[in-house]
Amino acid sequence: MTTFADRVIAWGRTHGRRFPWREPGLSTFELLLTEVLLARTRADAVVPVIDALLTRFPDATALATADLAILEAILTPLGLFRKRARALIPLAQKLVSHHGSHVPQALEPLLELPYVGRYAANAYLCFGLGQRRPVVDANVARLLDRYWGLTPWKGKLEHAEAHWQFAESLLPWQDVQRYNWGLLDLGALVCKPRTPDCRACPLREGCKHASAPPE
Ligand code: SF4
Repeated sequence: MTTFADRVIAWGRTHGRRFPWREPGLSTFELLLTEVLLARTRADAVVPVIDALLTRFPDATALATADLAILEAILTPLGLFRKRARALIPLAQKLVSHHGSHVPQALEPLLELPYVGRYAANAYLCFGLGQRRPVVDANVARLLDRYWGLTPWKGKLEHAEAHWQFAESLLPWQDVQRYNWGLLDLGALVCKPRTPDCRACPLREGCKHASAPPE
């Protein structure tokens, strides 16, 4: 029997979503900003916004001196635009003042940046730098809960230590980026909150929550 990770990776190869930030060639600044916006946000809503944001503010220096009203206007389609705009400027300012306008490459300094949470920091390190890191958003946490029969997390997922540690224990040793993308996509597209599409799920076999038996 193939492993959990094998099935996620295989499914992602044929059914995974394509986004501009999953293509090679982005700078570390572009990748970090993308992951910050993706936290707690639908990925398809981020596509036009990140494009406009990076066109106007292509690096930390430009964003550090951004006009707040312009930044808010760009971020408006994502919601929480005032909060996000007020957070992104200090984030860029700290990159400039503490890191020479570069993005740190380790978890601790990333988490010390304004508005960079556990999801964005780990996603950046995994997808941007190829580090073997768990990437857990609400969709992934729900999928793991269902498949493995875990007790659902309460409160902020950021602090759901058991979920992060469990997700880390499942990481494959190879293809970790494709695995994490696969999990994000399966959680968003198949293991949906109200109506999981278990018939289309590559994880039916062995899932403690599957609503349809394997064929
Ligand atoms: S089989 Fe159903 S409940 Fe289990 S992981 Fe797949 S979609 Fe979710």
